[in-house]
Amino acid sequence: MNSSNTDIKIIKNETSKINEVDFENLTFGNTFTDHMLICDFKNGAWEQPVIKAYEPFTIDPSAKVFHYGQAIFEGMKAYKDENDDVWLFRPDENHARFNKSAVRMAMPEVPETIFIDGLKKLLNLEKDWVKFGNGNSLYIRPFMIAIGSGVIAQPSSQYRFMIILSPAKSYYSGEVKVIIAEHFSRAANGGIGAAKAAGNYSAQFYPTKLANDLGFQQIIWTDDATHTKLEEAGTMNVFFRIGDTLLTAPTSERILDGVTRKSVLDIAKRDNIATEVRPVLVEELVAAAKNGTLKEIFGAGTAAVINPIVGFSFKDEYFELPKLENSFALEIKEKLNNIQYKLAEDTFNWTV
Ligand code: PMP
Repeated sequence: MNSSNTDIKIIKNETSKINEVDFENLTFGNTFTDHMLICDFKNGAWEQPVIKAYEPFTIDPSAKVFHYGQAIFEGMKAYKDENDDVWLFRPDENHARFNKSAVRMAMPEVPETIFIDGLKKLLNLEKDWVKFGNGNSLYIRPFMIAIGSGVIAQPSSQYRFMIILSPAKSYYSGEVKVIIAEHFSRAANGGIGAAKAAGNYSAQFYPTKLANDLGFQQIIWTDDATHTKLEEAGTMNVFFRIGDTLLTAPTSERILDGVTRKSVLDIAKRDNIATEVRPVLVEELVAAAKNGTLKEIFGAGTAAVINPIVGFSFKDEYFELPKLENSFALEIKEKLNNIQYKLAEDTFNWTV
């Protein structure tokens, strides 16, 4: 871990935009709070983190982030309880994953004193931006970019770590139909799929656009080598309910180790829902859809928490999922939300 100056400087923004924001009609990820955290890494060390007004900044056109995509990020949320206290959900997991991504992208790790303590200080300033009420949250976007200049393809010697915050309503993307990937891949063995690297996301845009043109909202990604194993749904981990068993793929070099995924597994195990973490085959899914044992498919990720999928397409055949009374997706989502909003006892000690 790199050394750092733990003292965080706060320069308060004297004007606030909060009264101009319509909190009932927020588009996800478009509105930002009054402050941001910014901390540069230069000469082998982290400089003093500063919390200051949210505003644009300039960097050199030859900065490595623009040319070689040396950039990583995280996505997490803060929630408010009925007593007006603000809670984070498993922030240590996001911090650990951020540093794992940093190592894979040849970037410096960010110490807890900047990532976690900085986030808490920033949230303290912005707590009015976190609204109580089911579905409301403050989306937190920590990220790091290579700001060192020079168009030579090698790691930068200078980096910028930042945290920005965006108020969010519950995320409803409408009915989600998915198509199973037969050609494109989001990740490969030995690649960067397990890192939250910016390039993983831009690489998905084109195949996702093709899927959108065919009437599907998301792609279920399969393994790159054989396209026979089901791995992720869009930018979420994916679960399948066959009979009364919940199945999901094991994490690997190709799959992001999602915080929601592991929380869903823990809640399912606690509540005696049978789970299997093992490769899930496309042919198994198609067979289960045909013989009626396929009950649910859902995505799991911070933004939507749980996103039920209504049907999937494979090789030009479309399979509609049944509409269930006792959906595991909705049951687990409610339990997870209740922990996040402190409406149920947090037996796992996940909230901070
Ligand atoms: N897979 C990918 C590719 C993602 O981008 C995300 C969102 N971070 C997830 C899974 C879900 O991870 P989490 O539950 O930690 O948000």
